[in-house]
Formats: sequence, C-alpha cells, structure tokens
Amino acid sequence: KIAIHWFRRDLRITDNHALSLALNSDYEVLPLFIFDKDILNQLEDKSDRRVDFIHQSLQNINQELEKYNTSIYSFFGTINEAFKHLTNQYQIAEVFCNEDYEPSAIKRDEEIKLFLETQGIKFTSVKDQVIFAKNDILKADQTPYTVYTPYSKKWKEKLNANYFQSFNCNLNHFTPNSTPLHSLQEIGFKKTDTHFEAPILDKNIISNYDEFRDYPSLNHTTHLGVHLRFGTISVRKCVEFALNHNQIWLNELIWREFFMQILANFPKVQTKCFKEKYENIAWRNNENEFIKWCNGETGYPIVDAGMRQLNQTGFMHNRVRMIVASFLCKHLLIDWRWGESYFAQKLLDYDLSANNGNWQWSAGCGCDSAPYFRIFNPYEQTKKFDKELIYINHWIPNLNDLDYPTPIVEHQFARERALRIYKEGINNT
Ligand code: FAD
Repeated sequence: KIAIHWFRRDLRITDNHALSLALNSDYEVLPLFIFDKDILNQLEDKSDRRVDFIHQSLQNINQELEKYNTSIYSFFGTINEAFKHLTNQYQIAEVFCNEDYEPSAIKRDEEIKLFLETQGIKFTSVKDQVIFAKNDILKADQTPYTVYTPYSKKWKEKLNANYFQSFNCNLNHFTPNSTPLHSLQEIGFKKTDTHFEAPILDKNIISNYDEFRDYPSLNHTTHLGVHLRFGTISVRKCVEFALNHNQIWLNELIWREFFMQILANFPKVQTKCFKEKYENIAWRNNENEFIKWCNGETGYPIVDAGMRQLNQTGFMHNRVRMIVASFLCKHLLIDWRWGESYFAQKLLDYDLSANNGNWQWSAGCGCDSAPYFRIFNPYEQTKKFDKELIYINHWIPNLNDLDYPTPIVEHQFARERALRIYKEGINNT
C-alpha cells in the first residue's frame, strides 16, 4: 500500500504540514498534482499567468524530487476522474492534503473524502496555509471577529513559537515514480512572458516596509502574494521573519488571515455585501466606462497607470489598488463585483478572500470598511504618493500627448454624485 500527498495550494516540499505527515506515515508516498479540468475550463485566457506559475513551480519541485528517484504524478481531468483512476491503479491506504478554506474547495474535499472512505481509504487534511484558521480566533462569546484591530490583537496574543515551528519533511520516503509532468500545451495553455522570482524574505524590504510601502514607484513591497497564494513559501517562515524584523509587515499577514476567516465564517460575502443595506445602492454600471477603467483610459493618470500595470504584469501596487477600486465604485458608481471579477481574472496573487474583502472594504460595504463618505481624491493621492509622477510616467509614457484621454468624469461632480447615491441607497432599507 502507498500514501498519497495531494498538492494544491502548497507547492513546496519543505515545511509542508500534510506532506510531513504523509512522509512520516507507515507508507511510501506518491506526490500528486491534478490539473483540474473544472477549474482550468473556467479560465478564458489561455495564457493565464497563474497556470504558468503553477506549472513552473511543479517543475521546480520535480527537479528536487529527481534526487529521490521520484516525480509528481500528474493527472489532467476532473478530481473525481483522478481518484477513480488512482484507486484502480494503486493500493492506497491514506490521502493527505492541506486544508483549503474557499467554499468550493471545502465542498470538493468533502465529496472526495466521502468517496475515498467508501473505498476504505483515509482522508487526512490539516492546517498549513494559515497560522490561525476559521475558528482559532474567536471573541469571548465564541463568535467570529468582524473588526480587524481586536482580531489582530487576539491573534498576536495567541501566537507563540509552536505555531511557526517548521514541519520536517523526510524526503527519502517517496515511492518511485517517473510519469512526466503534463506540458502547458497538453492542458490547453500557453507559456507567458512573466518571469517568476523565487520567493525571498528580503530583509531590506521588510525592515523598512512601513516607511516606503505606500510609494508605488519605490516598489518596496515583497511581492510574496503569489507565493502565499500557491504555497511556494510557508506562512510560518514569513511570520517568524516578520516577528524578528518588522511588526508592521506582520499586520499584513494578519489581514490575510482576517479576510480568510471572514470568508470561511460568512460565505455569503462571495456574492453579497457584508453590510446588507449596501445592496440597495443604485449602481450606474455603465459598460463603456467600465471598459475604459479596465483598459486604463479614464483620463485619471494614477488610475490608468495602475490598470496598465495590472494588465501588463498581473501585479498592482496596494496603494494604487485602493485608488482604482475606490474610483470604480465611487467616481463611476460601478458595482464592486465587476471590479472584483476583473481583478480575479488578472491578478497573479488573486485570492478569493483577500480580493473580496478588499473590494468590499473599498466599496464601503465590507466588514470594518472606511465610512462610505470617505472618497479618495485621485489627485491628492498622486500628490501624496507619486509626487514626482515617476510611477505614472513609467506606465503612461505618453501622458502629455494629445491622445491621452480627458477625464471620464469631473472629480467634484463625481464625488457629490457618489455621496448622494450612496446615501439614498443606504437609507432606502
Ligand atoms: P506585501 O505588502 O509585501 O504584504 C505581504 C503579504 O501580506 C501579501 O503578499 C498578502 O499575502 C498579505 N496582504 C497584504 N495586504 C493585504 C490585505 N490588504 N489584505 C489581505 N492580505 C494582505 N491581496 C491578495 O493577496 N490577493 C488579492 O486578490 C488581493 N486583491 C486586492 C484587491 C483590492 C481592491 C485591494 C485594495 C487589495 C487587494 N489585495 C489582495 C491586498 C494587497 O493589495 C496585496 O496583498 C499586496 O499588494 C500584494 O503585494 P505584496 O505581495 O508585495 O504584499
């Protein structure tokens, strides 16, 4: 009999909780990755950077595994097909994986667990991608926190070194395997031009994070989002590093867990406003304006620079994400769900809980959002955070040319319109 380690959002072979358990079990371990047709078919862009990232990460793992005479067992199909196939081919004692907290993943795992159990196979899934999951940090009355500051306080109080101890993976315990990894072409995708850096905890960036993080031209954030998303870095390593070098950066990692527990405890946020009365806002939802926003053609340079950075690289600086999101919801009065879904298509570090939580925060309808009447002024934001226009000029080299669009809407007018429409919506309950 063998055990299986099923890789999903944990694409690394060091400090991997479920993998360490599998490798310490009584069985040799087959490492598995399933190119899930149900997910891949939903992706319209066949040059999706995330698929390329996953593929490269699997290749990196395989390079390491070669030393142990094994490789990832690669399957292309649905999850059900994969496990039917595997249970026919192997005598499996146990399947190990790390927990995934997205509603669709929870459902998938429940179904597979049932299927495996009917075959007499144990399904073990453990916490790995967060320090504290859904029910680990609760208020005194045992209900979830919906405000960040007290949540983060409790999170820090509860943390001790046991929570970020590394999980030791005994790599000599794999079963031999030589099936080649599917190529991108075989799964219907293309290679992209994106160069993916290996994850590093950069002391220089993290130590001075609070001083420089808000200036997009300095690019002084870690770019670890995609690595945390796909588990090519361990969150425990990040937390330990943050404790030693910068508590402000630690707060960002706590925001990540805050929104994960919000999604897990309030799955309705996937489609609905956390604050229900915001469902009554009369969004204008002008499609032409939305297309201009997507393409970075609003005539507001800081907004357009951000959208062009996103379209060209799959990344946007956090300060600018906040500005473009506010602009879409408030200046253009377009439903935050449209923006959320565009970001979901484009962001390399796209994560359902973080994206949804931050979009709702920007629209004012989320838990712990800024009050709706605080409307970012894109010109003031530029003065504060890109005074020399370095970021803007980088992404819009033709800023002073005649073909750069005039503003899509006048700021003061848009501000007053947003205040009126929001107020009417919220009072209309
Ligand atoms: P750093 O600034 O170095 O921060 C380290 C890590 O902390 C990040 O990689 C991320 O995992 C976490 N983090 C930081 N800020 C936040 C935050 N506000 N909420 C949750 N986690 C955070 N982040 C995503 O990971 N995925 C998303 O889909 C996403 N969508 C966003 C949408 C909008 C409208 C806004 C305003 C923000 C969004 N963010 C999202 C949060 C934030 O912008 C990114 O995490 C950050 O810019 C990624 O850059 P970095 O890796 O250099 O992060």
